[in-house]
Parts: sequence; structure tokens; C-alpha cells
Amino acid sequence: MTKALLSLSTDDFIAGVEAVASKFDSATYPQQNLPADDWALLVGSGVLLPTLPKEYGGRDSHIDMCRVSEVVSEQNLALGVHVTVNTVLGLRPIAMWAGEEAKQEMLPLFAGSDPLMAGFAATEPGCGSAMSGMTTTFEETDGGYRIRGRKHWQALSYSAHWWLVSAKNEDHGRREYGFFLVKRSEGFRTVQRYEPLGLKVVDYGVNEIDVVVPRHRRISADGRNLSAMVEILMASRAMMAAMGCGFLRRISREAHAYADGRLIGRAPLSAIRFARYRLAMIDGSYTIAEALNHYLRTVLDLKADMTPAFPAVQAIKTVVTERMVSAANHYQQLAGGEGYRCGSPTNIAGQAFLDSRVFTIFDGNNDLLSQQLTEYCLARLEGRSLSGFLADWPLTAPAVRTLRQDLRFLDQELGQEHMVLAGRAIAYLFAITQVLKWAAETNADSGRVLPAIEFLKTDIVGVTTEFRLLATGILDADDGVPAQSNGVLSQSIPLHART
Ligand SMILES: Cc1cc2nc3c(=O)[nH]c(=O)nc-3n(C[C@H](O)[C@H](O)[C@H](O)COP(=O)(O)OP(=O)(O)OC[C@H]3O[C@@H](n4cnc5c(N)ncnc54)[C@H](O)[C@@H]3O)c2cc1C
Repeated sequence: MTKALLSLSTDDFIAGVEAVASKFDSATYPQQNLPADDWALLVGSGVLLPTLPKEYGGRDSHIDMCRVSEVVSEQNLALGVHVTVNTVLGLRPIAMWAGEEAKQEMLPLFAGSDPLMAGFAATEPGCGSAMSGMTTTFEETDGGYRIRGRKHWQALSYSAHWWLVSAKNEDHGRREYGFFLVKRSEGFRTVQRYEPLGLKVVDYGVNEIDVVVPRHRRISADGRNLSAMVEILMASRAMMAAMGCGFLRRISREAHAYADGRLIGRAPLSAIRFARYRLAMIDGSYTIAEALNHYLRTVLDLKADMTPAFPAVQAIKTVVTERMVSAANHYQQLAGGEGYRCGSPTNIAGQAFLDSRVFTIFDGNNDLLSQQLTEYCLARLEGRSLSGFLADWPLTAPAVRTLRQDLRFLDQELGQEHMVLAGRAIAYLFAITQVLKWAAETNADSGRVLPAIEFLKTDIVGVTTEFRLLATGILDADDGVPAQSNGVLSQSIPLHART
């Protein structure tokens, strides 16, 4: 069965995945962890194959990977997360960075029809945003490595059979990070189950690890810093453009259908002008996600080292996830009381909100990623002001030209709070640039393009206003908590990433 999937065209292959994914429509599929039989159906449709290299039985295709995550997320966002964790976080790092022996051991198992799962274990109860604080350790033993520690919030905590685990070693007075391929049966134990607010298809919990793995299971990566972790996470952050695009296409469709069908008095909800404004904001979010997804498909490459795409990926993740949460919020407001019901027959708004909410938090919280984006740009000014840099930088220059807005408010000394806000403005400029590019390359309808750009411009005006608000001194009240000094840099920015 899976062999036959290898020779299909992308369109035929994706049509098959979509047909299976439609059985999991979030309007009807129960809010429960995915049973193994259901995962077997999806595996049988080939969802894992694009991630696997051809020599291990896969389709080895960037575009197929993106389209799988998109079509599954359109049917059911939580299922999109399930699939994407398996493919982008569980299997891709092995396909990209593991040695031949480890690949041979693991990857062919995922090319068959067994419903196997793979996850990524980095976050710990004591550290999520600042991964340098991890306490899971590794030490060399005869023939391998012993890894011990405690992780939490891993997607597929209870169910994944294979894990990529991050750990630290400080034995010889210098810090080293390592990434190891671990089988659950070797000593990966889930000791507590978490009940998430949304994304119920996926299981979460606290995991204790005490394993010895053979030497070949260490992933080749520079251990001196966290650049390997950043690369791994960049792939899943980039994939949020595909997931967000599928999700927002669905939300836009559902919100319009609800607003057309619901009578307020004698006229439909969609006849109310402010309701139309909310619908326009949802549609604008979908357009922005589609443009960012176009960038993911046509410029980025999940089959290559993602490090050079660092700034683009930070911008994609923050903008698209913010748009997902915002659109779900508007949709829920439009659905009124019915939008607050579990299992409402008229809409999926409540679930959409709960499922999307965490996207601005996981895989690197958006505030940190925005700060890092600013830091990335500041490190490349070469004598220019930040606004001058953005006017020159290919990722933002077209937007700066279109915007015709004074960005010199960015050129002051930036405290940490300003760096987060500036990073948002930079990400909006990137998004405007991509909407323009997408429109030019696809002949997109100007009725969609212009509002999307106007919404992003308004977001930038919002950042200007927030800078003014901060200048009033609202953060300066002495509450006894010492704030981080200006200029504290986050530690996960690749130094050599291409501009
Ligand atoms: C549903 C879900 C699925 C997940 N899946 C996985 C998985 O598969 N594997 C895995 O290893 N982990 C996973 N995680 C963990 C996730 O990546 C972390 O929760 C996330 O990175 C944030 O870490 P934290 O929870 O420790 O928050 P903290 O580090 O405590 O941060 C809390 C908040 O502090 C603020 N903050 C932090 N830094 C800054 C900054 N520089 N500027 C401004 N504000 C800041 C932000 O508001 C942030 O949300 C998952 C989490 C959830 C909820």
C-alpha cells in the first residue's frame, strides 16, 4: 500500500491524505487522544512519507510535507499538530542530522504501515524559553551515553515510541549540549498526564528519562551552543505557515457561513457592518497566512539546513500564530453564545479558539521570538540606524517603500520591552513584503491583497503607539521586582545566519 503512494503525483497524493483526514473533521471528531487505529489510517494515507528520504522508503518532498500539514490542519487543527510533531519534530531531525546507523535503525520502521510515533523532548518543568537552563544530563559510558532527567509538555508524551531528547553535560568545566535518539522502552517513562485546554487529540505529560543509548544514537550537532535546537525548532515554526493557512481557510469559511445563516432580528448577522468588519479581519488573516505559506513553499526548504532562514522563520511564526488566535477570537465573538458551547452543531468556534490559543506560546513564545528578531537585525546594522537597515534589507525593504510611514521611532535606545515590540513591527514589515510578493507571483485578487496590507500597516501603527505609551513611564513604577537591564541578549540567535 505505502509503495503505491511513492509514485503518485503530489496532487494525487495530497488528495488521498485529504480524503482520510476528512474523517477527522473537528466539527464531529471527539475531543479525545487519537486512538492508535485512527493514527494507523493516517499513516496508511502516507502522512509520514514526505519527511522520509527515498532510500528509507519515503517520498522525500518539501512541498508534500507542507501540503500534508496544511490539509490536515484544515480538517482538524489538533490533528495537524499531531502530524506535524511526528514529521517535523520527530522524524525530520533524524533524516537531516543523524548518522547512517541511526537512520537505518529508525527511519524504515516509519515507512511501513505500523502506526509508530516520534516526538521531541526539550522543555523541562524548570525551563522552556531559556533552554540553557536544562537539567537533563548526558554522560559518556562504555559504548554509549547515559541520559537522565525530567521533561514535560511533550506532544505525544504517552504515545510516541521514539524520542529525540536534548541533554547537557558540564563534566569537564565546559558546557556541551547533545541530542539523542531514544526508544520509549529503553527508559522513557511518562509519570504524569496533563489535561490541556485544547488540542485534545494530542497527549501531554511529565516524562522521566533514565536511559543508556549506543554511541550512534547521538545526533551530529555543534554541542557548544543551542544552534542545533534552534535549527530543529525552526522547521516546526516555519510549518506554522502551512498549518495556519489550512486553519484560517477553514475559519474564514465557517465564520462566513455562520454569519450568513444566523438571523439577528430579520436580517442575517453578516448584514451588520461591524460583523462584516470582523469577517474582513478574519479574511485578512487568511490572506496573510496564505502569503506566508507561499513563502514557506517556494523559498524555504525543510529538506535543507534551516539556519539561514532564521529571521524569516521568526517573523512567520509570530505573525501567523498571532493571526490564528485573533481570527479564532473574532469567529467566536460572531458565534455569540453558540460559540461558547462544546459540541455546538452550528459552529466550531469554541474549539478553534482553544486549539489555536497555544500557538503563540509553544515552539518558542512569540515575545521571545520577537525580541530575537530585533537582536538579529541590530547585529547587522553596519553603521545604519534600525529604520535605515529595514529600508535596505530585502526581507522588509518592499514593505518600507509601500508603507511610507516614519519608522524612526525604532532608532532610539531599545530596552527589552522595546525589542519585543520592534520585533513585531519588523515581522509585520516582513509579512507585508510577502503579501506583495505572493500577490505578484500568483495574480492574487486585489480585493484580498489590499485589506491584508492595511491590517498589517495598522499593526505597525499600533507598535508606534505602544512605544509612545512606554515613553510615559508606565513600567517605571517601583514594584520591588528588579527588571532585566537593557541589552540582555537572548541566547539562541544563529550568528552566521544569512541576512
Ligand atoms: C500544547 C503544548 C505542546 C508542547 N509541545 C512540546 C513538545 O512537543 N516538546 C517540547 O519539548 N516542548 C513542548 N511544549 C513546551 C513549550 O515549547 C513551552 O511551553 C514553551 O517553549 C514556553 O516555555 P514555558 O512553558 O517554560 O514558559 P516560560 O519559559 O516560563 O515563559 C512564560 C512566558 O514568559 C514570557 N517570556 C519569556 N521570555 C520572554 C521574553 N524574552 N520576552 C518577553 N516575554 C517573555 C512569555 O510570555 C512566555 O509565554 C509544548 C507546550 C504546550 C503548551
